[in-house]
Amino acid sequence: MPVKVIIPTALRQYTGNQGSVTLPGRTVGEALSNLSGEFSDIKKHLFGEDGKVRNFVNVYVNDDDIRYLQQNETELKEGDVITIVPSVAGGSEDVDGELSRAEIERYSRHLIMPEVALAGQKKLKKAKVLLVGMGGLGSPTAMYLAAAGVGRLGIVDFDVVEYTNLQRQIIYSIDDVGRPKLQAAGDRLKGINPDLEIDFYEERLTSENALDILAKYDIIIDGTDNFPTRYLVNDACVLLGKPNIYGSIFRFEGQASVFYAKEGPCYRCLYPEPPPPGLVPSCAEGGVLGILPGNIGLIQATEAVKLILGKGVPLIGRLLLFDALAMEYRELKLRKDPNCPICGDRQTITALIDYEQFCGIGTEADRLVLEPENEISVTELHERILASQAPVVLDVREPHEFEICRLPDSKLIPLGELSTRVHELEREWDIVVFCRSGMRGAQAVKFLQEAGFEKIKNLKGGILAWSDEVDPSVPKY
Ligand SMILES: [Zn+2]
Repeated sequence: MPVKVIIPTALRQYTGNQGSVTLPGRTVGEALSNLSGEFSDIKKHLFGEDGKVRNFVNVYVNDDDIRYLQQNETELKEGDVITIVPSVAGGSEDVDGELSRAEIERYSRHLIMPEVALAGQKKLKKAKVLLVGMGGLGSPTAMYLAAAGVGRLGIVDFDVVEYTNLQRQIIYSIDDVGRPKLQAAGDRLKGINPDLEIDFYEERLTSENALDILAKYDIIIDGTDNFPTRYLVNDACVLLGKPNIYGSIFRFEGQASVFYAKEGPCYRCLYPEPPPPGLVPSCAEGGVLGILPGNIGLIQATEAVKLILGKGVPLIGRLLLFDALAMEYRELKLRKDPNCPICGDRQTITALIDYEQFCGIGTEADRLVLEPENEISVTELHERILASQAPVVLDVREPHEFEICRLPDSKLIPLGELSTRVHELEREWDIVVFCRSGMRGAQAVKFLQEAGFEKIKNLKGGILAWSDEVDPSVPKY
């Protein structure tokens, strides 16, 4: 009765490097003893002194583990496939859930590594990981965790895929533009690994829902792009005692760490307070190298897999700084702050707070609200230009943005240079200021008002609104 025996890589040195051997056998025991008859060196790796299959060697017939069949007496029929899976890490750890034959094949490159092996792959299968944010960081992280065999992924996001996301959010394709991110990401992840279980949270993570959502997972990965959610994720992780795998990106630079208050510092130990709103530009304002979230996201994914396996040295108490331009990684030691309000000795934060308020977002003073008479719509500006009543159009963007697109007959003075170049403008001029989306324009209007300019307006929605409503040939960026 010829059957095929699949030889794991670790044992191929004893079979003349053959990945599979076909030999006769009516039972598993017979086939395996024929195998060791043909390749005598393999015998001691498969059988103990007592002649039984060693307990750290798992033998499968087709999909089934022989321990749950008739063990060595399991009968074979022609065409059956025997798979030998030695647990290289020792195999003593007992993790629930067996791997199917398809899973064994899928994860074979893991199974043959002593650091993962069958026990580690089962840990991955049992693991539950939550990804907060399915943007630049979440995209590669989710794809690799799905491919690696993590059993359950929760994904939190409520955005829709935009065309400008495709430069870095590689989980999405051109056909996904306009679709909810979770729907598109779910399809892609299922395509990578149909065994993956996915929980969808198409909502904003808030102080009300965060503890309930995070509590269901072993590991939390922070792929957010704003400070309120970052502090929320941190505090919820500290309160629940979960590890928080942190990553952040800006232009060519990234940071990564593992905040795990049980064993080291938390995010608040590093940054007790957020920067004032507007001081640190977001990626939408400051830009980001499309590859960078790949670099940092994969560090996060790697840390997640290491924590699940319990292998290696995690980034706990270490802040990794990555500079893509210099291609340099630097590492800073992070210490637990004894005065940390949430993980320190005198804990003052014992429940989730209002993070928008904590980060100074949403207060009138910070939102920079202009009076209606200091704003003008793009259609109104267009009508004035057509009626030959064009104001002076002042562009406060950066020169590299001016290169991309501009409004007709506009004058460029970047916001940062306005205070030193204000003499280039006359106070009696009728001026309309614009930027990309309207934020910097509003700041420029405030500044010029304080400098004594009276006939000054901000273009609502910036050049993006102009492109949407007046001239679609102006590219959006
Ligand atoms: Zn702390």
